Formats: sequence, C-alpha cells, structure tokens
Amino acid sequence: ETELERPETTRTITVSNQKGGVGKTTTTVNIAAALAAQGFNVLVIDIDPQGNSSTGLGVPHSADEESVYDVLIDDLAFADVVTDCPDIERLQVVPATIHLAGAEIELVSLVAREQRLQRALDQYHRYREEQGEERLDFVFIDCPPSLGLLTVNAFVAAQEVLIPIQCEYYALEGLSQLLNNIQMIQKHLNPPLTVSTILLTMYDGRTRLAAQVAEEVREHFPDAVLETLIPRNVRISEAPSYQQSVISYDRGSTGALAYLEAAAEIVARGEEAGR
Ligand code: ADP
Ligand code: MG
Repeated sequence: ETELERPETTRTITVSNQKGGVGKTTTTVNIAAALAAQGFNVLVIDIDPQGNSSTGLGVPHSADEESVYDVLIDDLAFADVVTDCPDIERLQVVPATIHLAGAEIELVSLVAREQRLQRALDQYHRYREEQGEERLDFVFIDCPPSLGLLTVNAFVAAQEVLIPIQCEYYALEGLSQLLNNIQMIQKHLNPPLTVSTILLTMYDGRTRLAAQVAEEVREHFPDAVLETLIPRNVRISEAPSYQQSVISYDRGSTGALAYLEAAAEIVARGEEAGR
C-alpha cells in the first residue's frame, strides 16, 4: 500500500517545545495523519491536558472518558483507552482529558514516576503482538507546553524528539533550556534519545524575518532541520474546528501537501537522522 519503506522497529517520536502555540499539536496531528494516509500504522498519545490533538483527530475526550490520565495514574492499559480516529484508517489515539492537569502533581509521589508512559507503551506493543495485530510503525506523543513530569515521561518513552519551531523573532529563545533538559534525560534516563527532527512551522514567505529565522535555525541544527517548511495556511487552522487533520479536511491544500512532504521526509531520513 505504501511506497515508503516501513521502519524496522517502531519509531516513537516526542513532539516537544515548552513554548505554547508553536505548532506542536498541529504537527502531531498532521504528520500522524499523513503517515497513516500513506499506509503506516500510527498511534498518537495526547499528554496535554488541553486535549487538542484528541479534538483535532475527532476523538472524544470529555472529563468522563477514560484517558492517558488513567493509564499514568491508575495503571489502566493503553488497550483500554486507545480509540480509532474516525476518518483515517490505521490511526489511533490515546486521548487526554482535563484530569491530566493534576497528573503533574500526582505523579510526583508514584513509583517509577518518570517511566510510567514507557511501561504502558511497552505493554501495549506486547498486547498487540499477542492479539496478532500489526506492529505500530510510528508513535507520536503530543506534549504540553512545559518541561514537567508529563514531558519527562514522553522523553523517556521515545527515541526521538521532534521540535516544531515557529518562524518568528523569539524562535530560538528558550530552546537551550529544552536542549539542556533533553541532555539530562539522555544522561540519566534514556541514553538513545535524539533530537532527530526540527520542523519550521507557520512560515510566511513574504517576510524577510521568517527567512532569517529559518536560516538561523538551519545554521544551529544543520542535520535535524527538515527541508520542508510548513507555510502559514488557513486550511491548517480551520481543520481542527471540523475535528479533522488537514489531510482529511482538504488534502489538496498547500498546508496538507506540506505536511505530507514533511512526513515523507521523516520516513526517508530514518531514525538515525540527527545523530
Ligand atoms: P501548540 O500545540 O504548540 O500549542 P498549535 O499546534 O496548537 O500549537 O498551534 C497554535 C495555533 O496556530 C493553532 O490555532 C493552530 O491552528 C495554528 N497553526 C498552527 N500551524 C499553523 C499553520 N501552518 N498555518 C496556520 N495556522 C497554524
Ligand atoms: Mg498543543
């Protein structure tokens, strides 16, 4: 079905940037949708209490739904909370609910507080195998805009980090803090973790500033930055209000095409990118 090669093992990619509004959720939703639309088996884990990626993929996440909160805090299995995305095959979501806002504090006193997501995910891989289900090709974890224990759990559960960077004046500010945190995780909790991918988002080709920021980011991270830029595109911002990725909402739009291209690039570069 897919012309792109499947990864040999599941690639687990944490989408993180402690800044809000830089395109984490938009990138998670649309890269995941683009990959599923190409025939890959994809799981999105929403660990932002806002639950925006759950909404964006059309998955219920009201307070009474079971969610990643119950997995992290009450040892519920992923298998019990995984939900199919209604309009894209091969795409599943572990939704987040507002209860997750308290998890940051509740996790502090729990055993293996940094490893809870990783353990649940490992268990889910084994469960799928036992059920005779196909292996997941990609897992994306959509992080909240902070570097607390939820994000630490995401860094521990993944091998790769994808950092979306908005092409604006303050783009690089705060990035060293993010990179320091990732280094700490590498050192103490998860040595293989790599910033494999940086994606420039909301690019406005008409401004000189956007071009300058893009250039600066490429100079800092020559290996991690994708060639593909995500343009500012109204279809991308409309899609969530229809509870759809832009891939389903308007596949011919420049926004959808850019995310499809970025997804293909992530596949082609493989998991070794950025090492
Ligand atoms: P984050 O998850 O980092 O907080 P979001 O993905 O929610 O950021 O994006 C912030 C806002 O910007 C959202 O309203 C989203 O629809 C909008 N947005 C993101 N990327 C684009 C884009 N390429 N073009 C237009 N709007 C975008
Ligand atoms: Mg978000």
